[in-house]
Amino acid sequence: MKILIIEDELAIRETLQDMLELNGHTVIAAADGPTGAARAAEGPDLILCDIGLPGFDGYQVLTAVRQLPEGREVPFIFLTARADRSDQRRGMALGADDYITKPFTQRDILDAIAARVQRQKPLRERVEQLLVERRSEVSANWSHELMTPLNGVLGGLELIESEADTIQPGELKQLLALIRGGAERQHTLSRKLVLYFELEQAKAAPPLARPLRCDMTAIMTGANRAAEAAKRTADLTVRCDPGVVLLAEAYLVSAIAEVVGNAFRFSTPGQPVVVTGAHRGARYMIEISDQGPGMTAEERAGFGAFVQFGRVHREQQGLGLGLAIARSAAESGGGGLSLAEGAGGRGLRVIFDLPTA
Ligand code: CA
Repeated sequence: MKILIIEDELAIRETLQDMLELNGHTVIAAADGPTGAARAAEGPDLILCDIGLPGFDGYQVLTAVRQLPEGREVPFIFLTARADRSDQRRGMALGADDYITKPFTQRDILDAIAARVQRQKPLRERVEQLLVERRSEVSANWSHELMTPLNGVLGGLELIESEADTIQPGELKQLLALIRGGAERQHTLSRKLVLYFELEQAKAAPPLARPLRCDMTAIMTGANRAAEAAKRTADLTVRCDPGVVLLAEAYLVSAIAEVVGNAFRFSTPGQPVVVTGAHRGARYMIEISDQGPGMTAEERAGFGAFVQFGRVHREQQGLGLGLAIARSAAESGGGGLSLAEGAGGRGLRVIFDLPTA
């Protein structure tokens, strides 16, 4: 470790320096407050600081250090002959991590350093580990997808609980972002699953029990919702003939939003996503095409709620539920959904075939 010693008494400073260097540490030293505060910008891993110092005192050094970007989280230990409670409280309020009372032994110093390092290190390492785990989650398969968003939430909460008294603002923010990300993914996933099971039930219900008319402006609503979520409104083209189909409007909006959302997810910004709608006899056909990687014939033939496509492996946040929701929605209105290769063998076309009112 690189340790900064701020101590005006030469004998103590040199004793400390020898002791720390013998134990494998690198030492930088200062004999007064202003120099000490300046050397804190050199990025020490830990600071040992006397309270009674020329220039400014230890408290002022600590305040200055905590204002440096490099010094916000560095363990800071006071060396002091004055170890009464009010001194300690003042130091702790300013963000000191520990006190060592003079005269001290080598053991006192090494133990205090070890305690600080252990407190500091596991949290930082565990936060990093959580972030790494969180990144690897996105390539996990669907069965993990059902469970993993909560791991980030629970792991983050556990760290905050165990380190509640000492956690640094930067780490807290990082953990809160992790928790929010996991909670939002779980929320999205839960919403999709609820919708999927609701649609499966709707398919089984007698037709008269369902709301049966949906104006084709619903296509625009669903497509726009997905384009706005993907921040790709410029890439979206919608050309739909007016019409009314036999389907609950909320279901069609969700179905279109899922398919258009997938089309954006699998293509890159700048690539168009085209939605068309037209009558064909007593049917109304809606087609959504993208220029993404598409799906193989086998993948297209085998799609279902929990089938993992090659396509879904490339998806940032897995689970092939979107297409299954779209298919169930179409079927709930007595229609169907099919998949086809895009024009020129590129991308995917998703086709809704719905009975008109
Ligand atoms: Ca002194």
